[in-house]
Amino acid sequence: MAKQPKYVTPRRRAFQWISTLLIIGIPFVTINGKSLFRLDITTLSLQIGPATFSIEDLYIFALFFFVFLFCFLLATLVLGRVWCGWACPQTTLVDALEGVAGMIGMQVSPADIRGSIMQKMILHGTALFLGILIGANLVWYFISPYVFFPSLVAGTLNPWATGTVVTVAVLVYVDLIFVRRLLCREFCPYGRFQTVLVDPGTLTLRYMDEDERCIHCEACVRTCPQGIDIKAGYQVECISCAKCLDACRKVMAKKGQSGLIGYTFGIAGRGWRALMNPRIVFITLLIIFLSIGFLFISENRTLVSLKLSRIAQAGVHQSPDGSFTIPYRAFLANKSGAELNISISGVDEEGKAVVFSGPVKDVVLSKNGKKQISFTVIVSRLDASRQRPVTVEVRDHVQGVVNETQLLLPVMKNPGE
Ligand code: SF4
Ligand code: SF4
Repeated sequence: MAKQPKYVTPRRRAFQWISTLLIIGIPFVTINGKSLFRLDITTLSLQIGPATFSIEDLYIFALFFFVFLFCFLLATLVLGRVWCGWACPQTTLVDALEGVAGMIGMQVSPADIRGSIMQKMILHGTALFLGILIGANLVWYFISPYVFFPSLVAGTLNPWATGTVVTVAVLVYVDLIFVRRLLCREFCPYGRFQTVLVDPGTLTLRYMDEDERCIHCEACVRTCPQGIDIKAGYQVECISCAKCLDACRKVMAKKGQSGLIGYTFGIAGRGWRALMNPRIVFITLLIIFLSIGFLFISENRTLVSLKLSRIAQAGVHQSPDGSFTIPYRAFLANKSGAELNISISGVDEEGKAVVFSGPVKDVVLSKNGKKQISFTVIVSRLDASRQRPVTVEVRDHVQGVVNETQLLLPVMKNPGE
């Protein structure tokens, strides 16, 4: 078997290392004790930097998801399959496995793995290790690694988390040992999806030999992990890894010439101006619009949700002094990601304080906690013609006002109601 060409470029390798370390490292990063990015299953909340979004803020989840989705769509439209060649975990994992194989002197071809029993054991062990690492890394985005490892050691790790690690580890192992590059070529849904999205401005690798300098050494073909001959023009199987580009540069550099393969926006090589087309411009504007919306809503969201409902069966009670007592129930949910100590108060439309009687002061709301409290609103009068509004304020001792809503007092139909 011919020696496997090793043309993983320094730039591409550096990018793979950085992106891999970022993906593995992000779950370990915390800001003021909060994860940088985590979807917490136990509390059904999304943590992004210092902000915690509770499931109650589902619309913010949805907005974040759409921003992410359209960014990915735009990246695909602009950069084509650069993701596949430079950042896709599948490519990185196969490159890593082939790198280990190269270090121990093994030959790994798309169809075969050749080596001694000891070499094969090392390679299988590497595939299994990578599988376990990927499975655990996935779980760390849901269960903090600072909880994961102690639970693992104590044998109390959630069975779903254990199941996920084992399942992913097995899938990655099978993929690395039996499938490898075949997945990109034959099965990857993103690859199929991308072929639909190829745009006049999409970045592609292109063979440019207008002055016919090609020496037909076929280094570009031999190094291609997808078995493509780039000289035959753009092919949907190409993952834009640029291995052919580097192989050709090396060959031509020995002759003191520039390479014949390069990146270009658009199959026809129209340059960056090819990006100025309606599809790309529309999606860019959509991302800007959604991002502004996301930032605005995130900034203005309430840290405590408050729902008020009247306890109808308790009725309205009129005291001998003529004041009215109306029972209410408050449903509180802490979405701030930290414990709060809140008080509820109200003012009428003239700005005068309304008496709230009951446990409305120093209510401790635990992190992501919910509470229901009953209290009565005491007012000196009720209108017979309209529902008088009362502005209800929820104030935390540290954060200040965390919610403000309006309560409508009942209409006084008759004095005995
Ligand atoms: S043709 Fe070039 S860029 Fe495309 S997959 Fe093959 S080596 Fe990578
Ligand atoms: S590596 Fe360059 S010179 Fe060699 S065959 Fe490919 S395009 Fe031609």
